[in-house]
Amino acid sequence: MNGVIEIHGHPIAGVLKRFPGPAAAITLGHVVLGRNENMLQVTRRHERVHVGQYERWGLAFIPTYLLVSVSLYFRGRDGYRDNPFERAAYAVDEAAWPKVSGLQERPE
Ligand SMILES: [Zn+2]
Repeated sequence: MNGVIEIHGHPIAGVLKRFPGPAAAITLGHVVLGRNENMLQVTRRHERVHVGQYERWGLAFIPTYLLVSVSLYFRGRDGYRDNPFERAAYAVDEAAWPKVSGLQERPE
């Protein structure tokens, strides 16, 4: 995906560490903020899905994301992991790393 700016650094890491989770990176439109270069690399596929979501939803993305999260929370679900925007992003990660998961389950 072209036109994406990735930024990392100490002040960004300080903020992301305070997120519930805490977060390795966050996408705001076509800007991805990461704790450091390694975390930007590890989360690149995931965050690019969010860039695509921003492109499709425009300014409605953030309020829609938050409304879905709050709605899930009040129904006893996980507002982050059960959010369809996150599920789409994690699905890309899982598709990209099946061999790594397999190795971790069978260390021999
Ligand atoms: Zn995400």
